Amino acid sequence: MSTLTYCKSFASTNLLDSYNAAISERSSNVTPDSGGRKKRGVGEHTRFWTPGRTLKVLIFKYNEHSFEAVKNGAIKWSPYINLNFEFLEMDEEDIYNSEEFLGDIRVNFQPLLKNSGSSRIGTDALTGHPHDASMHLGTYFSSPGYEGMVTHEFGHALGLQHEHQHPDAGIPWDREKTYDYYARTGGLSRQEVDANVFPFDRIPGQTYTPYDRQSVMHYDVLDELTLGDRQLTASWSISEGDIAFIKKAYP
Ligand SMILES: [Zn+2]
Repeated sequence: MSTLTYCKSFASTNLLDSYNAAISERSSNVTPDSGGRKKRGVGEHTRFWTPGRTLKVLIFKYNEHSFEAVKNGAIKWSPYINLNFEFLEMDEEDIYNSEEFLGDIRVNFQPLLKNSGSSRIGTDALTGHPHDASMHLGTYFSSPGYEGMVTHEFGHALGLQHEHQHPDAGIPWDREKTYDYYARTGGLSRQEVDANVFPFDRIPGQTYTPYDRQSVMHYDVLDELTLGDRQLTASWSISEGDIAFIKKAYP
């Protein structure tokens, strides 16, 4: 049983900042042309990084296990992307003494959710204040689910959305029970459940990769949260579908 049953991706609080960060990073973010699972509204931009670049991953110092744990989860993506990760570890004081983004992705160990991770989506990491983490992870490094959780959060950091929100997912959520469950277990608001759990609307004329229930970006689906009899145990590891999608995003 995986430790993680949910996570929270968090959007930039300012849509214009999000748009500007995405476009200055990669002009093709203006036109969602990478196919797939992240189409949420007409004109919405994607948030992918520039292929070929080095992504600086700044890890807030925690203990002797934290650096390796983050690195091991992140590099699961490396064989499939034309991006390099450069991992840096720093004390909070050094981070707070700088006014610049010392890391493109900034990881701390103060989870926003109980036993779970959170991340900004792709280039949204370059919005907001440079001192703020763009990814929040827990400290249960020895748990068997930890690495899969980190891989999932790095999927968000690379610009991926949740796969259980694919318009074709067809999960018969019992909406009220689902709101209640995530409020109780993770403290998610109804708005956050809408943003992280329920399906995205299909946008006419857009191309989608097929729904992939094996995706590392897919939650566990609990039977008690669905109508009828439906349960799904997430894999928390990178699937063939994830590989196809991420290769296309980072050629
Ligand atoms: Zn997630």
